[in-house]
Amino acid sequence: MKYIFETHLHTSEASRCGRVSGSDYIDFMISRGYNGIVVTDHFFNGNSCVPQFLPWDIRVDRYCEGYKRAKKAAEGKDFTVLFGIEFNFAGDEYLIHGVDDIWLKDNKGIMRMTRSELHKAVAQAGGVMFQAHPYRERGYLVDIKLKPDCADGIEIYNAANDDNMNALAYQYAIKHGLPFIAGSDIHFFHDGPMGGMRFDERPRSEEEFVIALKERRGEPVRLLDGKVERILDIEELLVPTHEPQLPVINL
Ligand SMILES: [Zn+2]
Ligand SMILES: [Zn+2]
Repeated sequence: MKYIFETHLHTSEASRCGRVSGSDYIDFMISRGYNGIVVTDHFFNGNSCVPQFLPWDIRVDRYCEGYKRAKKAAEGKDFTVLFGIEFNFAGDEYLIHGVDDIWLKDNKGIMRMTRSELHKAVAQAGGVMFQAHPYRERGYLVDIKLKPDCADGIEIYNAANDDNMNALAYQYAIKHGLPFIAGSDIHFFHDGPMGGMRFDERPRSEEEFVIALKERRGEPVRLLDGKVERILDIEELLVPTHEPQLPVINL
């Protein structure tokens, strides 16, 4: 038995762009062949819908609401729900795995940290920072920011990205010898391609998930039309056809 996890998912409780409640995702993800999800809503520096004027602890509670509802909806089902974060700096975003709401409440200072400071703080808490969609090009982005020494790994497949952007991300991960992650970046139900990580053993906690990623025990996969394919077998996701259009800033 293999276990497929969604590693990049947004809920309408915390992400302004999310169109599905955490509680409504479970049956859909099970129907698509997933055994677990990591809820990675946009943090307050990203496309968040949590009001800014609230006290920090209450903001954090609101932020965790989508995750909590997903977790509750999965009770009694053979499905694992884990907590994660998508953290934005200046258009460059990181998926943070292995920290929790208590850590967030104790670390209000993360909002003012540099990439290196946050990377160190997350590592001290036992977590990891994977750069999400590093070569994404969209209307809201002006450049491509790279800082490999602050990335414990790279999202080499983001189902919401073009093939060439994913292929550039894959080449970047290879160049720096960094572990891979793959996910859908799902914001709403759809029939298009989805992404995930496939494990031989099911990660049952955030800690187990982080160890599995660090030890490269998962393999990135694409789910499409009921089929599961290894990303490493899909040439168009590995070999770029052209250079990025946006300027690349090496930080
Ligand atoms: Zn979003
Ligand atoms: Zn995202």
